[in-house]
Amino acid sequence: MVGALCGCWFRLGGARPLIPFGPTVVQTSMSRSQVALLGLGLLLIFLLYVGLPGPPEQNSWFWGDPNVTVLAGLTPGNSPIFYREVLPLNPAHRVEVVLLHGKAFNSHTWEQLGTLQLLSQRGYRAVALDLPGAAVAFFEERARQLGLGCQKVEVAPGYVVTVLTWPGTNPALSSILLNSHTDVVPVFKEHWSHDPFEAFKDSEGYIYARGAQDMKCVSIQYLEAVRRLKVEGHRFPRTIHMTFVPDEEVGGHQGMELFVQRPEFHALRAGFALDEGIANPTDAFTVFYSERSPWWVRVTSTGRPGHGSLFIEDTAAEKLHKVVSSILAFREKEWQRLQSNPHLKEGAVTSVNLTKLEGGVAYNVVPATMSASFDFRVAPDVDFKAFEEQLQSWCQAAGEGVTLEFAQKWMHPQVTPTDDSNPWWAAFSRVCKDMNLSLEPEIMPAATDSRYIRAVGVPALGFSPLNRTPVLLHDHDERLHEAVFLRGVDIYTRLLPALASVPALPSES
Ligand SMILES: [Zn+2]
Repeated sequence: MVGALCGCWFRLGGARPLIPFGPTVVQTSMSRSQVALLGLGLLLIFLLYVGLPGPPEQNSWFWGDPNVTVLAGLTPGNSPIFYREVLPLNPAHRVEVVLLHGKAFNSHTWEQLGTLQLLSQRGYRAVALDLPGAAVAFFEERARQLGLGCQKVEVAPGYVVTVLTWPGTNPALSSILLNSHTDVVPVFKEHWSHDPFEAFKDSEGYIYARGAQDMKCVSIQYLEAVRRLKVEGHRFPRTIHMTFVPDEEVGGHQGMELFVQRPEFHALRAGFALDEGIANPTDAFTVFYSERSPWWVRVTSTGRPGHGSLFIEDTAAEKLHKVVSSILAFREKEWQRLQSNPHLKEGAVTSVNLTKLEGGVAYNVVPATMSASFDFRVAPDVDFKAFEEQLQSWCQAAGEGVTLEFAQKWMHPQVTPTDDSNPWWAAFSRVCKDMNLSLEPEIMPAATDSRYIRAVGVPALGFSPLNRTPVLLHDHDERLHEAVFLRGVDIYTRLLPALASVPALPSES
């Protein structure tokens, strides 16, 4: 653990106007112009004090403590750094404290030790930083312990994909890719029963942690299964790569989307991939063979402006209303289709939600422009060209000056076959059958990194071996029972030998 560094990290300290003149001294020894100059100087110091940059904008969340509130968040920018922060409880010192840590610790240690709280009580603002790259360092260490190859690929500044490799005995064969993402979504700690970054296990065996389901459990299950198999002395024909990627939770644009375009990805020669799935509260395990495609659409309507008291014709609002009605009617139709067919799962129909309405400046001013934003999730069997034409025609039908633009438009829906024509599925499902695991193949309603993997021609299944588990990803109190977690290790310990021993495909011989 590295000691505290005191100093001017966010806001320059010491700018308090400590001028060594008492008022009487000023009156007796200074001319009027000197007093004016001094006044100007004081004003300048005051303005500097007020105008100096403050702390970086906080993308943070609060949690309560009877005495001290510890904030946590990520610094903005390309290479965000996780931090915990306390503000001075008592009259503030101008000195601020930055706490770093040694390799075996993290910013949480400073909270657990009470150092952050103590500094706050003593009137200091203190920031404890998590030094970047902790996840990558963790995987490097695992690679060393397990005797695996380790490769780091920086796909964007500060965004590193870590690849751990267990070479197969037949390098002519394509490899198995076990993918997991290292990032998580934020927490609202006040809604958690236990610290979400402590991996607390309660007396019943539930492990509470952000990422317990999504999907740090799977990363560790991969590693543990590989460890067991290696300890038992196994070797398999196909190489097994474990990829640990950043950025998935915000779209993978600085992660898997870039990685699949890199020569390092092609050099992995992936033949088949496993990636994340979702928990299933029943006895069954969900496995995803495709995904809906996110289409984020913004419809902008322009019309005649004017006074809010008049019956103005051709307003932006009227036309936008028509488009909104057409799209919400479509939504209702898809919802009914889903409700009326018990065999249909959510991922098989197209969903849409109106997520943003913008426009207008005042009650009595009719705006010239208004817009509505929609989050469509298009089912993989939809004719994408026809669907886009349908959207355009709803806009045209609303009147002149209604246009649409895409903030996101995924156009490569891919389906990984779930029958024995697919040798990977055959191997996967045979193991599940042997282990008496019942599978529920589905289309993922949301988007994951699998879409990038499938889009470059690698068949992929989304599978997190979490049955009898409530779906709590991204939720408060995300948790997983240790028995389910350990069973998952057993499952991968059976799956990996089968997948890494799939005989040469016609394309490989
Ligand atoms: Zn995830």
